[in-house]
Amino acid sequence: MRLAIERKRQGEELEPTEWEAIVGAFVDGAVDDAQMAAMAMACVWRGLTTQEAAAMTRAMVESGQRLEYPGDIVVVDKHSSGGVSDIVSMIAVPIVAAAGVRVAKLSGRALGHTGGTIDKLETIPGFNVSLSMDAFVRQVERIGCAIAAQTDAFVPADKRLYRLRDRTGTVPDMGLIAASIVSKKIAGGAHAFVFDVKCGAAAFMTDPPSAIRLAEALVAISGEFGRRAHAIVSDMNEPLGRAIGTGLEVIEARDFLRAAPRDARVEALCMQICATMLDVAGTGEAQTAARVLESGAAYEKFVEMVEAQGGSRSTLEAMAPSTHREDLLAHAAGYVERIDAVALGNLARELTNHDAFGGIRVAVRTGDKIEKDASLAVAYGAHPPIKKIRAAFTIAQTPPPPRPLIYATV
Ligand code: URA
Repeated sequence: MRLAIERKRQGEELEPTEWEAIVGAFVDGAVDDAQMAAMAMACVWRGLTTQEAAAMTRAMVESGQRLEYPGDIVVVDKHSSGGVSDIVSMIAVPIVAAAGVRVAKLSGRALGHTGGTIDKLETIPGFNVSLSMDAFVRQVERIGCAIAAQTDAFVPADKRLYRLRDRTGTVPDMGLIAASIVSKKIAGGAHAFVFDVKCGAAAFMTDPPSAIRLAEALVAISGEFGRRAHAIVSDMNEPLGRAIGTGLEVIEARDFLRAAPRDARVEALCMQICATMLDVAGTGEAQTAARVLESGAAYEKFVEMVEAQGGSRSTLEAMAPSTHREDLLAHAAGYVERIDAVALGNLARELTNHDAFGGIRVAVRTGDKIEKDASLAVAYGAHPPIKKIRAAFTIAQTPPPPRPLIYATV
């Protein structure tokens, strides 16, 4: 292992068989954390080629359980690289399933300031995120969709390596991120994937060129495994939706599916992702997504999924924000120049630690013109850190340059 670390440190490309041996030895314990951390740092320093990342992906997939679906059905999966107020999965999964394409979504928990779909869904009374993999596959076959947590038997190599990268400052490398994400998608058994690569101050990839390179790597590595994949590079310089907080985000997704008016930013991204999921599944009917949303079929599919996983329509519909609320008003008129999504994500996590229906609901978007005393946000939960929440909003006298919601599609 020492020689392989040294060669990688010098910028050499390692052979696929070497990556297989390294990952295998790490899972078996023959390569210890110190050596693997050094290797991860060499990868961050020198980068991985697509072939190396694909070899690492293959070795990680081999480390654990793999799901399989019968050959005659097409199953798609969707993955976000992580953001704030990212409610797309809770919306897109039932829309695409209602449009007739099966969706199998294995999700993760919150990481740093970013939210995790699993933590959000757990706020629905009775909702079971810990399905056995057998129950997960059967639910996808029966009702067309399921969202559940990955079990420990699922890509254990990534679980261990990710924890190590998190502790050693070696998360933000394109090849390592791509191998980590694609290995879980391949093991999840879906036939086609859509990746939502977040780009901006609150994302792993802060600038469009590096986000696009990650998107290209995800698509290329998926292709190595014979999977059709597309990626969308979307903005994460401000929260995607209005709500930040586990229960608040479920309420926002529920209400989005249930009826208009809908937030324009959330709608634009969700519709693009749904159209891409339908396209990658081979149905090519982008308008179907809007149709099942408007007809209420997508909301009914969401309720069906909630009921299949132990929740009920009545408790879902009774979910409401914490009754403790405090309004945050603008001290001065002007334009919203910046909304610090990292700060708001961290503050909302503190609030939801005490109350699953605590959190922050932003009332403005970057670029909005506001008057003095206009609402900037509402904080839910006891004793919200109002001063810190206020500091996340920057008001200026001139409007900021507009930013696209979608930077690229790959
Ligand atoms: N999400 C993952 O699953 N893995 C990474 O390495 C980064 C984001």
